[in-house]
Amino acid sequence: MTAALDVLNRVFGYDEFRGFQGEVVDHVVTGGDALVLMPTGGGKSLCYQIPALVRDGVGIIISPLIALMQDQVDSLNSLGVRAGFLNSTQDFEERRLVEACYQAGELDLLYLAPERLRVPATLDLLDRGRISLFAIDEAHCVSQWGHDFRPDYLGLSDLHERWPDVPRIALTATATQTTRTEIAARLKLTDAKQFVASFDRPNIQYRIVGKADPKQQLLELLRTEHKGDAGIVYCLSRASVEKTAEFLSANGIPAVPYHAGLENRVRAENQARFLREDGLVVVATIAFGMGIDKPDVRFVAHLDLPKSVEGYYQETGRAGRDGLPSTAWLAYGLQDVVQQRKLIDTSDGDDAHRRRQSQHLDAMLALCETVSCRRTQLLAYFDEDAEPCGNCDTCLSPPESWDGTIAAQKLLSAVFRLQRERRQKFGAGQIIDILLGRKTAKVIQHDHDTLKVFGIGEELTEAGWRGVVRQLLAQGLLAVEGDYGTLVLTDASSAVLRREREVPMRRETAPAKAAKPKKTA
Ligand code: ADP
Ligand code: ZN
Repeated sequence: MTAALDVLNRVFGYDEFRGFQGEVVDHVVTGGDALVLMPTGGGKSLCYQIPALVRDGVGIIISPLIALMQDQVDSLNSLGVRAGFLNSTQDFEERRLVEACYQAGELDLLYLAPERLRVPATLDLLDRGRISLFAIDEAHCVSQWGHDFRPDYLGLSDLHERWPDVPRIALTATATQTTRTEIAARLKLTDAKQFVASFDRPNIQYRIVGKADPKQQLLELLRTEHKGDAGIVYCLSRASVEKTAEFLSANGIPAVPYHAGLENRVRAENQARFLREDGLVVVATIAFGMGIDKPDVRFVAHLDLPKSVEGYYQETGRAGRDGLPSTAWLAYGLQDVVQQRKLIDTSDGDDAHRRRQSQHLDAMLALCETVSCRRTQLLAYFDEDAEPCGNCDTCLSPPESWDGTIAAQKLLSAVFRLQRERRQKFGAGQIIDILLGRKTAKVIQHDHDTLKVFGIGEELTEAGWRGVVRQLLAQGLLAVEGDYGTLVLTDASSAVLRREREVPMRRETAPAKAAKPKKTA
């Protein structure tokens, strides 16, 4: 038996390695550098914990998840592994104790927050002990393309210069080809061996529904399919986190809020309850979840559109780590697109940054509006080919498509006439009122009832037109800008206006309808 397998059995109590864990472990044990891409729940931790135990010296684990270090260290200690951590939450005495253990060679693993490595004293400390390996967890944090960039991570490339003989292993659950290349370059790991697992999570059922009354839709989902289940509900703002948690509680579903504006103590308590109790729902901003290891999260629901496909994948990936059937449910509507555009337009950062965010949003919209398998589309984003899965809403009840060319022409002409003839820009609401021939106060005020396009769209309902706007946005045939979410034409719009391009559209399903057949009692 190899030393690694022995540690797996004896210390961790597992019979065999999962996937390519064994290969990674062997590679790092023999001093090789590695870049490991594995979905959440895949078993990344053992990939560095075991080599750290097999090799001489202390394994240094760089992790941004300060809040979880105590838990990680406690659970390792309970297995008899000598682990400690150094981060900003400790007082001087606690820190000194850990430092002494490190120098005396009495640790197997030392967890460090990345910012500690910017402190020269930490580097000097590391020099006084013996390092078996560096593990860089959540390595996508080095990527400016990713969704969780941390400037502190950029300094990690220097580790190699200072300790050239110590093997490095970087791990992440986020991995488009672009991010992967960027991680390797920024951490100077271009020669590292790459281990790339499939990112498919077959037990997660992906569903994206039209947003009507999202809290009510959520309640319906929980009552019909997830009674008594633990789950995470993501909202964009702190206010909607609070409101949604109250709403669920008032409707008999135990729920607690989690966001950065809560007192530390409350936040920690709510997180601890989620981990400890059965069937609790956490309503959270995306501040919640990184590194949370709760195996039986049965659903992840998004009440607002995630900013990127990578973020969506990460967040939904927290469901079903135990491999049992779980639901990833997202409610999305036109207002989400308007709001996200606004956030991008007003965000700090340069044009390149805004362009990247825009591309992220476009990819997310494409996933929402796809008529083919969600999983195929999701995995394609991670450069993985996959057949239609049979376990997502579009596979289970394929959306009908319809020829939206005429509708698109009508809507774009309305935007065109306002923009070109009147030098005006309006949001979706006004455009739709014009198409429906509604003589609202605002229509009269702007003399919009004299436009040629006034009343030419009565064949669709208001909701129907909103769907058309969303799909035009997702297809890049229309754009939204500014504080008021005004609609403007894009370069691609003209082909539709000139009748040179057809516009297939997805027929809207009734909002609250679940794609999955309801369980019969
Ligand atoms: P990740 O960091 O990739 O999200 P973890 O390292 O937290 O995943 O592992 C996820 C779960 O799988 C943990 O509960 C872990 O104990 C378990 N696990 C990992 N490797 C194995 C294995 N070889 N055999 C059985 N269980 C494993
Ligand atoms: Zn599918």
